[in-house]
Order: sequence, then C-alpha cells, then structure tokens
Amino acid sequence: MQQMAQEQVNERLSRVAELMPTEGIDAVLITPGPDLRYLTGYDAVPLERLTCLVVRPDASADLVVPRLEALAAAASPAAHLPRHTWTETDDPFALTASLIPEARVVGVDDHMWAAKVLGLRTAMPGAVQVLAGPLLDRLRMVKDADEIAALTRAGAAIDRVHEQVPSLLRPGRTEREVGGDIADLILAAGHVAVDFVIVASGPNGASPHHEVSDRVIEVGDAIVIDIGGTMPDGYRSDCTRTYAVGDPGALYRERYGVLQHAQDAAVQAVHAGMTCSAVDAVARDLLTDAGLGDLFVHRTGHGIGLQTHEAPYIVSGNDLPLEVGMAFSVEPGFYDEGRHGARIEDIVVVGPHGPVALNHVTRDLVMV
Ligand code: ZN
Ligand code: ZN
Ligand code: ZN
Repeated sequence: MQQMAQEQVNERLSRVAELMPTEGIDAVLITPGPDLRYLTGYDAVPLERLTCLVVRPDASADLVVPRLEALAAAASPAAHLPRHTWTETDDPFALTASLIPEARVVGVDDHMWAAKVLGLRTAMPGAVQVLAGPLLDRLRMVKDADEIAALTRAGAAIDRVHEQVPSLLRPGRTEREVGGDIADLILAAGHVAVDFVIVASGPNGASPHHEVSDRVIEVGDAIVIDIGGTMPDGYRSDCTRTYAVGDPGALYRERYGVLQHAQDAAVQAVHAGMTCSAVDAVARDLLTDAGLGDLFVHRTGHGIGLQTHEAPYIVSGNDLPLEVGMAFSVEPGFYDEGRHGARIEDIVVVGPHGPVALNHVTRDLVMV
C-alpha cells in the first residue's frame, strides 16, 4: 500500500463513527500505535508526550500533537485533520478533554500507555473509560484489497528467507549464529524491521516461543524456525517451517506427518461463515486422534496485519464467524518437553472461494 489517501482516512474515520453508537461510545481516543496508523496513516513514534486522535460520533476528528511533532503530523496522511498543538508547559490532557466536553463514555485504544489513560481520566472526571479495541477490531479484522496486497508482499518476502534457511543449517553452528544470519536475510528481503527470530533446535523446539540460544546444532536435531518482520507499509510477516539436520528419527518423522496433514486440513477448511473455533478444531482433532493432542499446547492461530498478533484469534471458544478478507495464521505444532518440537505456520486469507495461503515455501520436513 502506498501512503494512505485522504479519502481513505476519512472513510475509516466514518466507519469508526458508525460503530460508536452500537458500542455506546461517545468519543474514541487513539495514541500512537497500530490503531492510529490504521485510521490515519500517521506512523507516530510512541513517546511520553501526548499525541492523541479524537474521533467523535459525527465522524469529525482532531489531532492533539506536541508542538515539536507538528511538522511530522503535517507530513502524514492525517494532515487534513484539524491539529491542536501544545507546547511544553501546556496540559495536553486538559486540551484533549476540552475537545469532547459532552462525552460520557470514552473509548481508549488498547495500546494506550497507562500514564496517558490515567492523565485523561483525571482530565475528564465525568467520563467513564472503556476499551476501544472491540470496536477497532471489527474494522481492522477485515482487510481491504490494499491490505491483502500488503500481506501478500510480506508473505513473499518471508518465503524468500525460508528458501535460504537450509543453507544456514549445519552441525556445529549455534542457534544464535543462524538467527543472526536470518535477521540479515529478513532485512535483505525487503522488511524494514526484524520482529522476531526463533531458532529452536533439538529439545529447545519444545518451547514454542524459544528465541535463540548458544546451543550448538547437532546431527539428528529437528529445528523449528519461526520468523517475521515489518514491511515498509507497516504490514507484518510471520511464517514457521521445521527443518532437520540429518535424520531426526522415525517417531519424529511420523509425528511430523500427522502435523503436516493437520495443518493442511485446517488451511483447506477455511471459508467464510466457519467459526474461528471450528478452524482450531480441525487441526486439534487430527492431532488428538493421533495421540498428540496434549502436545499441542497453544491456539491454532492469530490475526495479522499492522500487528503480528491481532484479532481474530483462532482458538477454541471463539464463535466469531470468518468473513471474506480476514487474515490469520494457521500454525499447529507439537511440543514434547525434553525431546523435540515442531510447528508449521502459514498466513491465510479468507477468500470469496475459500482459503488463500500467502506462504508457499514447502511445508515438508526439509532435511539438510
Ligand atoms: Zn507465537
Ligand atoms: Zn504466528
Ligand atoms: Zn510465527
């Protein structure tokens, strides 16, 4: 996605305004972070000084900005919104409160720093604060064509990194060395930031969020590699493949076969109208039938966009029906403490005719 157009900013702000009455919210307050970037294209740096977008039910919106950030705000796609600048000795919370004197229920973004939440609370003693997340999630969960194109580019970029991973894996190298090389490749593939690099070899594979360690890779290790970064437009990649250095053994290969089937079945099942819970069940039931249910210790997936983890969450109990345009990971795994682990993860978009996978690098256990 190129820089957001002014019309797109206005359209997203009016959609927020449309949802405010149904959520019982009189004003939405948004500080720098993914929600601000989504609504206005303004990628403001989160700082101790208050920058705050104020959205009212009539879809009018103002931006409260510190004087020294005014030029950055004016250069952003939010430039057309009325700006209220404050200088170092002003009270930005009182300024924000003065823009919405009638508001009784104020939605604050889920990522707002506590210092700001409490500052705004003090400045608006007659208002109740609620989370704006549920309202904003309803918009952000369903991606438009530009966003799907952005996620597709992110998926292709991380695929290029995975294609090069086998050449990095050799017995005698440490997880940290491999992880450093992968971080360089993530940037070389077009990302502007490395969000995470998990190189979990041998028994470390049993810890789903292991990052890297000084463990030396040995012959017979399975290695879970889960990597992701941020593209210049803010959209994220996230893809896991599992590799083996030499033969990881018959038990492992058998379990991996079950996992590969479960992951593929869950991806293929995705369609509009299906619940998030049902997607989780497809993968979980197949692993459970093979005796691996207890080793699958996390949900099947998470939404992705301007954040790596966002709604919708593909988890048991989430009865949210999938809609065309939703994008999320399908990433079942098995984690056998002290022994080994595996995970296969693709980003999938709900298309009009079923699932569209954004990662294409082979899901087979690649033995190097
Ligand atoms: Zn994760
Ligand atoms: Zn993920
Ligand atoms: Zn991942």
